[in-house]
Amino acid sequence: MQHIGSYSDMMKDELRLKILRTLGQDKESRKRKLKCSFCGKSATEVQHMLSGPSVYICNECVTKCNQILDDQH
Ligand SMILES: [Zn+2]
Repeated sequence: MQHIGSYSDMMKDELRLKILRTLGQDKESRKRKLKCSFCGKSATEVQHMLSGPSVYICNECVTKCNQILDDQH
């Protein structure tokens, strides 16, 4: 019985590792897939990525937008 117990503990550890690895990869790939809806840069290319309901905008485009809005005054 003790042997079976330690075996299932090993399985649990392996499963936990697998889950953590999968979650980590998922998070990374999701970040890579994020793209600014305005300039098309990915989240890894810019400092900040702001997300709206279905769009994303990077900090560079926010700066650009602010400049454009300021010019229109
Ligand atoms: Zn952008």
